[in-house]
Amino acid sequence: MANHYRAQPAVPLLWLPLLLATVSVHTHEGRIPHVAVVGAGPNALRLIACLQPHSALVSVEAFEAEAVGNTISSWYEGSISHSPKHTFKIGKLEPDECSQCLDAVYTADKSAPCLLDGGKARHCGRDEYVAYMRRVAEHGPMRVHEHAKVVDIKRNTSTGRFSVHANHRSEQSEMLQLQHSADAVVLAFGAASLPKPFRLDPGTVDGARVSSHLETASKYAGRNVLVIGTGPSGMESAVRLCSSMYGAKHVTLASHSRALYHPINDYVNQSLYRIRQFTNEGLMSLHLGVEMSRANATHAVLARQKKGGVGGIANEVTVAADFIIGALGFTTDVALVSAIGFGTNGSLNDATYETSIPGIFNLGVSGVAPWESL
Ligand SMILES: Cc1cc2nc3c(=O)[nH]c(=O)nc-3n(C[C@H](O)[C@H](O)[C@H](O)COP(=O)(O)OP(=O)(O)OC[C@H]3O[C@@H](n4cnc5c(N)ncnc54)[C@H](O)[C@@H]3O)c2cc1C
Repeated sequence: MANHYRAQPAVPLLWLPLLLATVSVHTHEGRIPHVAVVGAGPNALRLIACLQPHSALVSVEAFEAEAVGNTISSWYEGSISHSPKHTFKIGKLEPDECSQCLDAVYTADKSAPCLLDGGKARHCGRDEYVAYMRRVAEHGPMRVHEHAKVVDIKRNTSTGRFSVHANHRSEQSEMLQLQHSADAVVLAFGAASLPKPFRLDPGTVDGARVSSHLETASKYAGRNVLVIGTGPSGMESAVRLCSSMYGAKHVTLASHSRALYHPINDYVNQSLYRIRQFTNEGLMSLHLGVEMSRANATHAVLARQKKGGVGGIANEVTVAADFIIGALGFTTDVALVSAIGFGTNGSLNDATYETSIPGIFNLGVSGVAPWESL
């Protein structure tokens, strides 16, 4: 998981003075500069916690598309962070909720000693982490607008300030459009907050239940599942489905690629090891070099192309599939990156974390400049 999801990032505290200096430059005399933050994941909360003691110098407000800790709450059920407990600390509050052991990922025994890290550090289960983030957000309290998805950010040429446009879903589920002014904007919207969409020609699926990520464990108990994609997400999804927590009847792991993902780290190695184990036990079947050609509510047909991809289909195999998961990985909010106007030429100053649009900063795992991979 570490490289695949990218390691838990540390907020680069060194750039805070630079951010403060930048917003001051953009601010008219006599008014406290205002910073808008996009997202309310661990990095956004860490930034807000750092700025809170400086409220006489700067004000800060965050806009979160869903709820605080949205990405973490979408981790696979049973996930535990690979980073040790102390790295979760946000502001002054200790992450007391975090109590799980990383080995539990492999042993399913939550009381087991942490052998992987020599018994020194506890980690954080998904739900523990989200509970901690909620406590952090409510402590203070932080100004976080939940269910406010930022859809555009534009600089007003006459005032020099940014207009942050967000679609806000009210408690009554009404959609409202918010417009918010800020002297600087920090993008802390994560590199992996959205599953990559899995698109199928509707004519090829007749009643099949298709999703683009692994959902609640109980949904799959005793069912046949087809997972498409042999990157880290597909492999981990397939392994989790075979685990006792998900309890799928049978899992087919399929991909047009002719090989499983290369063993880049312990987490991918663990998936590869479990895939071997589950295929030997007959719980999982592997089909590489295939495309799904059609599916109905209970079965899917996988077609293998002739060598070199020319000359049509070499053969077809029908597999049992009550659910089809297109596990193609996760991505950043590409639509927002494009609406802001970074195009493919956006860049990031590694020292200041300011993007190629002056006054817009980038923080966290998305700090690798998501536009580079578009
Ligand atoms: C399926 C999955 C499993 C993972 N499992 C693990 C694991 O087991 N262990 C581990 O250590 N790490 C794991 N990670 C990685 C971990 O989630 C990230 O490293 C961490 O969340 C990054 O924190 P962040 O604050 O930079 O971004 P995020 O936590 O992604 O926060 C970004 C926030 O921005 C919001 N947002 C996005 N676009 C907008 C918008 N337009 N407007 C407003 N808000 C927006 C999102 O809803 C989200 O809440 C996993 C990631 C995924 C996707």
